[in-house]
Amino acid sequence: MHELQVTESILNIALKHAPADKVKKIVAIHLNIGELSDLENEWIQQYFDYLSKNTLAEGAKLVIERIPIRLKCDSCQNEFEIKRDEIKNIKCRQCGNKKCSLIAGRDYFIKNMEVI
Ligand SMILES: [Zn+2]
Repeated sequence: MHELQVTESILNIALKHAPADKVKKIVAIHLNIGELSDLENEWIQQYFDYLSKNTLAEGAKLVIERIPIRLKCDSCQNEFEIKRDEIKNIKCRQCGNKKCSLIAGRDYFIKNMEVI
C-alpha cells in the first residue's frame, strides 16, 4: 500500500532526526507534499497515528502543505506551474510546445519538526 509506505518513511526520517537523548517528544511534523501526489491528508495522519505508537512521534500532528506542480519546457526552458487537472493537457505558456518535464509536484519531504 503506497500511502502506508510513504508514511512509514516519513516517520523513519523524523525519528532519525530526533535523537532520543535530546528529544522527548515530536509534537508536529511539517510536510511538503507535491500536488500531483495521491496522498490524502487524512489517510497520512491515520497511518501515522498507527505507525508511531510507542515512538517519540506518537501523537504528533502532521501539518501538510501542498507544493504546486512545476514544469519546464523542453524547448525554451520556460518554467511554469500548472493545476492538477491540467496535467493531461500540458502546453508551454511561452512557446506552446507540448513536451515538458516535471520538475516539482510529485515529491514529499519533511520541512521541519516541532519537538520538546
Ligand atoms: Zn516553451
